[in-house]
Amino acid sequence: MASMHIAYIGLGSNLQNPIQQVTQALLELDQMDNSYLLAYSSLYQSSAMTLDDNSEPQEDYINAAAKVATRLEPLQLLDKLQAIENSHERVREKRWGARTLDLDILLYDHTIMETERLTIPHYGIGQRDFVLKPLLELKPNLKMPDGSMIASLLEGSGQYNLKKLEWRSLGE
Ligand code: ATP
Ligand code: CA
Ligand code: CA
Repeated sequence: MASMHIAYIGLGSNLQNPIQQVTQALLELDQMDNSYLLAYSSLYQSSAMTLDDNSEPQEDYINAAAKVATRLEPLQLLDKLQAIENSHERVREKRWGARTLDLDILLYDHTIMETERLTIPHYGIGQRDFVLKPLLELKPNLKMPDGSMIASLLEGSGQYNLKKLEWRSLGE
């Protein structure tokens, strides 16, 4: 039987009821074949990343991170995550464009890989507080594959007006 791996997934949405999109996606991660949702972070709200000052303004994002145990290999996991994105009617337009759901593989065991379809660790980890803060909530002493502390990346990371949503916000 294939061995178990631990993957950290970053979730994001800024279209069509983002809180609902992210909450539903967490359930779908739990129901994914050969995988179990072990933990998930609070929901966070962040300002959109834009490519330049002329980009169309975008709604705020809802972000979260999830810890998943899986027997899927990295590319199989990416296939499943993209199938979930598609089932949320994600339309792939431009890079960093508004989307109903984005699921990124942030870390996968201590794997380092760089192929056309998949780069692990995700290249954006160290540049995005909306990725780092939810990840650190799951495991404050989480490390990169090279052994460096994820927490040490916060200092140099981009800031996106991150706000942790309190439980009361979930029902609004
Ligand atoms: P960013 O990658 O900067 O967060 P994005 O999430 O908007 O931007 P997408 O359009 O969702 O980018 O993904 C583009 C491609 O990135 C995907 O088709 C996938 O093949 C590739 N990719 C590379 N590494 C990863 C990863 N670790 N997790 C998810 N997708 C990845
Ligand atoms: Ca992304
Ligand atoms: Ca993505």
